This record gives sequence, C-alpha cells and structure tokens, in this order.
Amino acid sequence: MDSLLLPEAPGLDDEPEVTLQPKRKMSLCSCETCGSEEAKYKCPRCMKYSCSLPCVKKHKVDSECNGVRDKTAFVPLNKFSDIDLLSDYRFLEDAGRVSDRSSRDSTLPRNTTNKYLNFLKNRARKHDIDLKIFPIGFSKRRANSTFYNKK
Ligand SMILES: [Zn+2]
Ligand SMILES: [Zn+2]
Repeated sequence: MDSLLLPEAPGLDDEPEVTLQPKRKMSLCSCETCGSEEAKYKCPRCMKYSCSLPCVKKHKVDSECNGVRDKTAFVPLNKFSDIDLLSDYRFLEDAGRVSDRSSRDSTLPRNTTNKYLNFLKNRARKHDIDLKIFPIGFSKRRANSTFYNKK
C-alpha cells in the first residue's frame, strides 16, 4: 500500500502543533476515530487516519499520541520508503553535527595545553630543572602560572 504513504514536509519536526498532512487519495479508508467519515488526515506518529480536527484531537487523547513523528520508530523493511530514508539520514546528520561540535570543543584546548606543557618540560630538562606538573583537574595546576622566559 505504498500509495497510502504521504510525503512529510521537511521542517515539521520543529512545529509540534502542525503534524497532519492532507491525504492525496481519499477513497481507501475511513476515519479510524469515529469510523463514519472519510479520512483526510494521517497521524505522522501512529499512522492512524482521521477525518477532521476534532477526531485528530480525540485520537491523540484516546491513544495518548502526541502526533509527532517518532524519528527512531521501527519501520518494517517492506514499508521502508524514501521518506523514512530521508528521515534517518537527517537524524544521523544531526547526530553527526552534534558529536563533531563536542569533540572539537574538548580536544582543541587540551591539545594546546599538552603541547605547551611538553614544551615546558623539555625546556626544564635542558636546564636541569625538575619540573613537576600536577595531573589534569588539580586546582594548583590551573593556578600555576609557570611560563618559559625566552630571554
Ligand atoms: Zn472522524
Ligand atoms: Zn497518533
């Protein structure tokens, strides 16, 4: 029943209130809430059909559905469509962007600090100085203002 799958417009995830799409082909099913009217809307989350806004709201209350498409919902392979693929792709893209940002934030300062400390250690060794460096996290390490004077 591929013809029943409706394209879901991009950007809907940001607007939880606007979650319903008008159906293109209407002759196939009736409202699953009242059972009498012809269905015009499909819930993006549980794929239930509704005829009108009151039925949509009733459905949400009855089945405790928030009407928001669940990005991580299991989709059977025979129902897996391009739309699901796009949804998965966007989900992975979002996750990639977040982890990329966090790794850049945490590695950059650490790298420069280690580089600087190695530089200090090297210089200290050359001058026969026993330079002791506190492990990361010690407040004394942060308070330490040791620096190498190039003169
Ligand atoms: Zn209805
Ligand atoms: Zn629903």
